Amino acid sequence: MKILVVEDSQSSLATLTKYVEHFGATSIPAENGEMAIDLFSRNRPDLVLLNILLPDMDGFVVAQRIRAMEKPGDWAPIIFLSSLDDDANIEKGIAAGGDDYLHKPISEIVLGAKIRAMQRIVLMRASLLAVTRKLDAANQELIRISSTDSLTGVANRRYFDEAMSIEWRRARRHSNSIALLMCDIDYFKLYNDTYGHQAGDECLRKIAAAISRHTERPSDTVARYGGEKFAVILPETSIGGALMVAEKIRQATKELNITHASSPTGQVGLSIGIASAAPGFDNPPDDLILAADKALYRAKKEGRDRVYRADAT
Ligand code: GH3
Ligand code: MG
Repeated sequence: MKILVVEDSQSSLATLTKYVEHFGATSIPAENGEMAIDLFSRNRPDLVLLNILLPDMDGFVVAQRIRAMEKPGDWAPIIFLSSLDDDANIEKGIAAGGDDYLHKPISEIVLGAKIRAMQRIVLMRASLLAVTRKLDAANQELIRISSTDSLTGVANRRYFDEAMSIEWRRARRHSNSIALLMCDIDYFKLYNDTYGHQAGDECLRKIAAAISRHTERPSDTVARYGGEKFAVILPETSIGGALMVAEKIRQATKELNITHASSPTGQVGLSIGIASAAPGFDNPPDDLILAADKALYRAKKEGRDRVYRADAT
């Protein structure tokens, strides 16, 4: 334990240092306010014994500056030492950031007891902080799990709904357009029937990864919309831009070269419906989802393994 001892009188400093060392702690001596602040910032002691009357500034100012220096979550107890025995000073000391007050002359036994009491608070505080950190981490993990599709690792439907609503409002605020891709694996039921459910799951993972690789902007969202259907939100993207992304995704799926003997093409393919909208107050995001879904239906109807634009006739 490191204790910063701030005392201008050499004899008092020597006595306090002796007490601190008897206690088994290491003493860092400081003879004035500036020195105390400097030593505090360099050594980060576990406790500060601070005389109120110092040659360059009073102890209240030193306490305030120490508190201002501490990062959120940091805390070193400050015990004021003074021969000024009046209530106003105690009140002022605590208001300045102090935690306790000792009257001079200091008794070694009382000082030891106060240090022990402060040590106990420091330890309790540290374990409380550790628990809080663990809770924070667990909460973050819960948020991650509740928004991720466990099979493919992309966002789940719940996250998609939230992201869509947020991006829709953002696009409306900035008068931007927003595009949506609805991607659906072709003849996937047949794939499962032919190769088994586990192979089907593996195929879903590979396609989810391929879609993610080709949606590069941090604001893009890839989500498993349900079953073998993936949705991609492309904020600030026109239909032309969305078309390029969709073609890249379709091509990347082809390049995965997943054999599908029961499909007319002999390999797993992807059909994609795309739509874009300029969000307003009278067109909800559901309209965009519906338009992309309709385009996907047309892509299927036209022969699958293709991209279809909602506004195409
Ligand atoms: P289309 O080309 O018209 O899209 O036909 P399809 O067979 O892909 O579509 P359909 O909707 O008839 O069948 C979808 C199949 O996707 C049904 C189901 O077996 C499969 N599927 C959905 N979710 C999962 C999953 O999590 N794992 C696996 N292995 N298969 C899934
Ligand atoms: Mg399908």
